[in-house]
Order: sequence, then C-alpha cells, then structure tokens
Amino acid sequence: MSELRDLYQEVILDHGKSPRNFGKLESKTADAHGHNPLCGDTITIYLELDKDVIKDISFEGRGCAISLASASLMTGLLKGKNMDDAQVLFAHFHKLVSDSNKTMSVNIPTDDLQKLDVLAGVRDYPMRVKCATLAWHTFNAALQNNTEEVTTE
Ligand code: ZN
Repeated sequence: MSELRDLYQEVILDHGKSPRNFGKLESKTADAHGHNPLCGDTITIYLELDKDVIKDISFEGRGCAISLASASLMTGLLKGKNMDDAQVLFAHFHKLVSDSNKTMSVNIPTDDLQKLDVLAGVRDYPMRVKCATLAWHTFNAALQNNTEEVTTE
C-alpha cells in the first residue's frame, strides 16, 4: 500500500473525509455534472456568479478520497476569485498534475500555490490524475454554461 501512503497525504485524507463546501447551492447561477468512469467518481459543481466573480461555489458527489479532496480544495480556492484568476489556477493545476517540469506562475498567490501542490503527487499515478482533475473540468464546464456531462474519458 505504499502508493496510497505516498498519495493520500494527511490533507487529502482530511478533505476526503470531511469535504468543505459540500452540498447543493440554492443560490446557484450555473452548475455542471462530471463523471470519471475509470474510478466511478461523480460530481456536480454549483456556482454562484456575480458578474465575473465567483461569489459562492459548492459541490456534491461520490467517489474516492482524491476526487473529493480535489473538489474540496478547489472550491475553497476558487471562492471569491474572478473568472480570469480561476482560469489561471485551472491552467496551473492542469500543468502541475500532467507535467513534471512544473513552473511557478507569478500570478498566483503563494497560499494558493501551496493548496494546489497538495495534489501534485497524483501526477505519478495516471489513473489518479483523472480523479484529481474531474472537479476542475466540471467547474470549467459550469463556467462555460456547458450542460453536457463532463467525462474524463
Ligand atoms: Zn477516483
């Protein structure tokens, strides 16, 4: 179980066990559904947009600790951000989990970078990358008002 030991760091376990921002958002202005058939993770992202600011964000879903922790960390990170900042974070996260030559982006606050780094370990486990990116792709779909279910396949 050394893979799990490496991967399921304390923060991931904590967020996976008690996800933040979990539940339906009654004030939502957009939502999107996502599905990772490889692992069986499903997620719904709820967004409340105020012009271009993410006033509130929450999620509901079922899945492995990685998918829940990623959604939990992501929603905490995105709350209060504007759409441009959110796109920068999404791009950085995507690079972080898919490319071992990570470059620091000057436009992201250190606090946020540290939160994103928590999940960077998944890049060594291609199956788990999909668990970690599901929430982000689904968030992106909600942002684009895409009502089709997002799938990692
Ligand atoms: Zn999963």
